[in-house]
Amino acid sequence: MNKEILEKYAELVYKIGVNLQKGQGVEIDCSVENAEVAEVFTEVGYKLGAKLVNIRWNYDKTAYLNYKYAETEALAEVPEWFIKSKEYLMEKGFCRIAIDSEDPFAFKDIPAEKLGAVSKARSKALKKYSDCIMSNGIRWCVVSVPSKAWAEKVFPNDAHPEDKLFDEIIKTMRLNCDNPIKNWENHIAEMDKHAKFLNENAFEYLHYENSLGTDIYVGLADDHVWLSAQEEAKDGVKFVANIPTEEVFTCPHKEKINGKVYSALPLSYNGQIIDKFSLTFKDGKIVDYSAETGYDALKSIIETDEGTLSIGEAALIGKNSPIAQSGILFYNTLFDENASCHLAIGKAYPTTVRNGDKLSEKELLEKGANDSVEHVDFMIGTPDLKVTGIRKDKSEAVIFTDGEWAI
Ligand code: ZN
Ligand code: ZN
Repeated sequence: MNKEILEKYAELVYKIGVNLQKGQGVEIDCSVENAEVAEVFTEVGYKLGAKLVNIRWNYDKTAYLNYKYAETEALAEVPEWFIKSKEYLMEKGFCRIAIDSEDPFAFKDIPAEKLGAVSKARSKALKKYSDCIMSNGIRWCVVSVPSKAWAEKVFPNDAHPEDKLFDEIIKTMRLNCDNPIKNWENHIAEMDKHAKFLNENAFEYLHYENSLGTDIYVGLADDHVWLSAQEEAKDGVKFVANIPTEEVFTCPHKEKINGKVYSALPLSYNGQIIDKFSLTFKDGKIVDYSAETGYDALKSIIETDEGTLSIGEAALIGKNSPIAQSGILFYNTLFDENASCHLAIGKAYPTTVRNGDKLSEKELLEKGANDSVEHVDFMIGTPDLKVTGIRKDKSEAVIFTDGEWAI
């Protein structure tokens, strides 16, 4: 990877992503395969004023061996020191950067029940930390760089798949221009404009329709707020949690979802692929589902807890975003979710309800915001998707036609 581009990449993540403040600590999750990326991030972090840059290393191949040989009980046990180390970051106001490069098929021959049980136990143990992340208690940003295995899945016939994938990632991150920071400020302003329209209209329902057979009414939570790329953390400092991001999103009402929705793209979950699936909802709950591929993985998501029977996010993304235009299936939610309108099974972001970060769990539930240990995005936006907003007085406005913003 070209060092100059990596430096621009890191600068974007620090300035627009976590919005690093002078004297702030940074923790970075990174694969050992991408040690050179971590090195650039460490140096750029210090140059931009970080107090301390700490790397938390991970490695798909040893994680796989753990899943293969260790018992579920051993894997599911989360040591107290690990939980404490995460909570330390919250207390000390560190920001967190996740540099993701996961091979989407890394765990494909591990039973879905084992992956599900471990992931459920870990999510439970780390709920305080993940709640803090979800309610913007600290500033965080998720980005991606290629790993060999991931790049070979995306470009199996290319002589240099890692270079090719990195080039595509650079394009989706809008880094292929003279002034990426300025470019991002403009992009954020455009998304804010859409969010403002949706907030002013305060729709009660969204009606999604397309030729796959999707015909679903998604009620929106009481006092829901549409957010876009830039959010405000609890300390009042703005940040962008995902780069790239194209989405404008809000909180559905967990009891007001009725109809059937079909997936538009495969979903890569815990190293498994779930494809060509549908979910049927009645009064907010999934009452039926099917999948041509990955039924067991879908089942394990839906059966995780009470909250995985419903959804916690509705996001709108136009089909002309750089990711959608690339036509590439990245097998990675960070990219694929930004290629298409999506919903998420599981927990709602408290910040998508007005003053949600100050409300109790009970108050959030009363407004219709879903709670769960899971949050799994799945893509539903097709090039012919129509989305109509329905106001409380039953008047309507078309928000999306032919998969693109109509406002
Ligand atoms: Zn989303
Ligand atoms: Zn989501």
